[in-house]
Amino acid sequence: MKGAYCRGCGCPLPEHGPPERRCARCRAQPPPLDDVGSLLRYRATGARLVQCLKYENGRYLRPELVRLLAGMEGGAELFAGRVLVPVPLHAVRLRKRGYNQADLLAEAVAMAWPRTRTSSLLERTRATPSQTRLQREERKRNMRGAFVCRRPMPPQDPFVLIDDVLTTGATLAACAEALRAGGARRISAFTLAHG
Ligand SMILES: [Zn+2]
Repeated sequence: MKGAYCRGCGCPLPEHGPPERRCARCRAQPPPLDDVGSLLRYRATGARLVQCLKYENGRYLRPELVRLLAGMEGGAELFAGRVLVPVPLHAVRLRKRGYNQADLLAEAVAMAWPRTRTSSLLERTRATPSQTRLQREERKRNMRGAFVCRRPMPPQDPFVLIDDVLTTGATLAACAEALRAGGARRISAFTLAHG
């Protein structure tokens, strides 16, 4: 699926630049992620789906999500044979919301792509302040060390981080860092929508 975001870290690409898959930073140094895939733009339908999933107990969306995911361009490449790792919420937020939207999304991915399994490998060790007002570099600082990997992993296992929405890629980069610290070497990411 095409879109103006970097497939190495998820940051938005300049709108009028040359058509690149990766940002200048990721082309210059190894990117945190092998690939980043998204289903929809964070506009109209995409934004509405994320809102429902996140704030309106979006379990009822599952059949629709499974249908969309099963037809996703590049889905086989991104998901087949992989371990799905939902981005965890902090325990306090999880208690408040009652569910983690990334878990719901991972369930839908697993139903759409049978050769996958889900594993809650990451733990969110601190509650991070809301990111919405922060710039890209601040977000990165804000997220650094916010996740830990629960157990060591064999380096050959391929992982896909799962989250609802991609904005600057700071959350995914912090999760990738934690998985890498746990031994993972092959890490991609999927978000329902990208900004
Ligand atoms: Zn990048």
